[in-house]
Amino acid sequence: MSNENMNNELQNKAILAETVLNNSISNSTADKQIIQTEILKTQNSNQDIKEITILSPVTNGFNVIASTNQQNLGLTFTSREYIKAWSTENPITTLTNDTTKNPAERSWSVLAPVKNEITGQKTFLVDFKISLTSIDAATQKNQKTSLIALVIITFLVLLLLVNFFRFFQYAILYKKLDEVDKMKDDFISIASHEMKTPMAAIKGYISMMMEGLVGNFDEKTKEHLIKINSNVERLDLLLSETLDVSRLEQGRMQFDMQPYNISQIIAQSITAVQDQADSKKLRLTEQKLDQMPQIFIDPDRLRQVVDNLVNNAIKYTQKGSVTISYKMINGNLQTIIKDTGIGMNSQDKKNLFNKFYRIKNEKTVDIPGTGLGLWIAREIIRKMNGDILVNSTENVGSEFIIQLPYIKEK
Ligand code: ADP
Repeated sequence: MSNENMNNELQNKAILAETVLNNSISNSTADKQIIQTEILKTQNSNQDIKEITILSPVTNGFNVIASTNQQNLGLTFTSREYIKAWSTENPITTLTNDTTKNPAERSWSVLAPVKNEITGQKTFLVDFKISLTSIDAATQKNQKTSLIALVIITFLVLLLLVNFFRFFQYAILYKKLDEVDKMKDDFISIASHEMKTPMAAIKGYISMMMEGLVGNFDEKTKEHLIKINSNVERLDLLLSETLDVSRLEQGRMQFDMQPYNISQIIAQSITAVQDQADSKKLRLTEQKLDQMPQIFIDPDRLRQVVDNLVNNAIKYTQKGSVTISYKMINGNLQTIIKDTGIGMNSQDKKNLFNKFYRIKNEKTVDIPGTGLGLWIAREIIRKMNGDILVNSTENVGSEFIIQLPYIKEK
């Protein structure tokens, strides 16, 4: 309820109370004592009633015949308000503010003549004061509550603003980071690309030297040449893999997709690593399906992935075999590259596809590698709508599964 509404409500109540009082007085006799009792009863019935005074007109004003305020008893008032109220039919209401009190006390004052019920003649004047203290306190409480609510809302709005500002700053920071990240990617891409040309020249000269095309070298120098060559090969691989990472990350790797039979790729890959397998006395075999389905892939990219996985299988297997087999499952062709090598524990298996992750233990310490091959392999297969899965047991062996959807015959 608004302050104004409350005031109106109270004003109406004051008039109503005055009317009730009016009736009880007009019905009573003119006995001052009865009237005094009557008004005290009325005041006690409501704590908001501040004062009731009953006056009767005399020649020089209005004489107090009963009052809840003892100090008024016996006094005569000549107030213009009383004269005006006496001459009107309807009650006069006025709002008074007693500033002598702290806090100031506001009250509604109702002045109305009381008529004798039988004769209809005006007999008394009722001065009825109803205090606004309780309602003002309620209003103040309301104001206090509103103020607290306002402070809380302001605080919340401020908090939101601060957050919004912080998010805004994060957005700017994110954009900058994104730009810096892109600059880094561009730098890596350009730098590795530029290094490819001098690397090709170095490789050319080393190969000429090793083939004896530029003179003969003693055994010691030949040994050094072999070491230089193997390090240059590693550097070249690192460069190629770095370029692939940046192409994949920037979505610049091209895919020439076509229907293909994966066993053709496996055959090429086996031929390429056969010598390596023989030198380690590993059995390298392929177990084809009776009917090999076609898959929709980029043959060169898939060859890159198969080479990597077959190479790893041989690299990380000291004895036993590397077997390549196939399975058709849920619309996918699985190419399973299984070895009887060093395997890995479950923790290593989790991190296997992270960039630059290499399992470090006494069995892998002498095996060279970049730790980028598997990340690249899985990204490439995912770009061709497939995935790479791993099963591995430490000291038993590993299974790397290339899973790709096969083309269904109509
Ligand atoms: P790397 O160039 O080091 O071989 P990869 O990304 O191809 O990099 O492989 C990451 C790591 O995963 C390897 O360093 C090796 O520790 C482990 N790994 C990969 N293939 C095998 C495997 N067939 N058997 C055991 N460990 C493997």
